[in-house]
Amino acid sequence: MGADARTADEVLAQLRAYREHDAPTHGGRVLSYVYDHGRPELDEVAAQAMRLLQPVNGLDPTTFPSVALMESDLVAFGRSMLHGPTATGSVTSGGTESCLLAVKAARDHWVARGGSGRPRLVLSSSTHAAFHKAAHYFGLDAHVVPVEVGTGRAAPGALEAALGPDVALVVVSAPSYPHGVVDAIAEVAGAAADLDIPCHVDACVGGWVLPWWEEAGGDPLPQWDFRVPGVTSISADIHKYGYVPKGASLLLFADGELDLARYFATTGWLGYPVVNPTMLGTRSATSLAAAWAVVQTLGPSGYAGLTRRVVDATAAVVATVEGIEGLRILGDRQGPLVAVATDEDVEPQRRVDPLLWVAAVAERGFVLQGQPALEQSDGSVVPHTAHLTITPVTEGLVDELGAALVEGAAVVRGHALPSPEALSADGIPDPAALADAARDGGDLDLTSVLTLIEALPREASAGLLSAFLRRFTAPRA
Ligand SMILES: *Cc1c(COP(=O)(O)O)cnc(C)c1O
Repeated sequence: MGADARTADEVLAQLRAYREHDAPTHGGRVLSYVYDHGRPELDEVAAQAMRLLQPVNGLDPTTFPSVALMESDLVAFGRSMLHGPTATGSVTSGGTESCLLAVKAARDHWVARGGSGRPRLVLSSSTHAAFHKAAHYFGLDAHVVPVEVGTGRAAPGALEAALGPDVALVVVSAPSYPHGVVDAIAEVAGAAADLDIPCHVDACVGGWVLPWWEEAGGDPLPQWDFRVPGVTSISADIHKYGYVPKGASLLLFADGELDLARYFATTGWLGYPVVNPTMLGTRSATSLAAAWAVVQTLGPSGYAGLTRRVVDATAAVVATVEGIEGLRILGDRQGPLVAVATDEDVEPQRRVDPLLWVAAVAERGFVLQGQPALEQSDGSVVPHTAHLTITPVTEGLVDELGAALVEGAAVVRGHALPSPEALSADGIPDPAALADAARDGGDLDLTSVLTLIEALPREASAGLLSAFLRRFTAPRA
């Protein structure tokens, strides 16, 4: 049970000590997970809004109408931002919940229209894992179409060819998380509409930055929002480029019938009548309040200004990476995400392995995200990459970051990754030992972890990850 009652000062001091273990959330040194706007007053208004709504239960907006008022303001903002003047939807707890609900709605809609058996969910290899989770939770078969290794998107016509009467939903991304590639949304949504199949645009990461991309000086984008005929729903995470505290995503539907299929309602028990628009029952209204307050503070002009900084910083980072011998940018990318692979066109002793580069750049103060290689269903292999999410504060750091990227590459150029055999002589490593080492040393050798994930069969590596995290978070003996 731990210690008995303590003073607030003691408790908060311990919490501060816990927080010292964390990666920095501000300052632009972590190029994934966090989206730093560089404007402290936004954090302050969010904190005050959270405090105001702290005691409220978001379960029942008729008892707490502030919840409905904040949500409808955010939906109205989303309607205009995503060009869906009559769209409806909800604020959810995050991208995963938005994706789960888009699939749940499509599945129930498919069943309501006479579908029977197990429906398919058509994705590509670059579609976010949240849709694999949705297929797993809700009993759909994920049909994963390979991406072209060169472009990072499905070959023209390939997603369309996978459509059929047993497809409950097809998903395209704007852009994809791994490589920052915008899918062929108009083509896929049009083909889906011809067959009366819903098409979801996963704009979890792009939804709050692409709307301002072109006016902020970024390269022109193909249309990707509700203006595209056949797009039936869009997810757009407010807690990414909406710059609000974690716990807020927007899910909008063009079609009211599909939107209604998102709800769960029952009067078949002895308690209060239940109607849940999202996955949870009782829920905090604090992240909704923080999201509402930050969005109201920024307004469209605030987002346009922050997007300008992201556009400039992205151009600078791309130019730096393009100048590094042995690396290349993967895919036909657009927007604020960059994936970097080995340049196979230079001789082996001039190549840079992105996973070794990630480790070398970390020693120089910047955290990039390693992404393992994947063998796709057609046998092609998408190579491993280093992922960078560019944020407004990156702009003030482009010289320092650029130097770290260049120097990091110089120290690992020509080096080969350790072989998976060298890492686990007896086959499978012990996840408990890895977790204990990570907890004791505070440092996890991610290069080795990713190398092992590539080498092991997928079920084995997924099982290892679960066992690892279970141990990592368990109370110590
Ligand atoms: C982040 C992301 C998600 C999942 O969102 P969470 O907020 O992490 O649950 C889904 N799709 C894309 C494209 C994303 O970038």
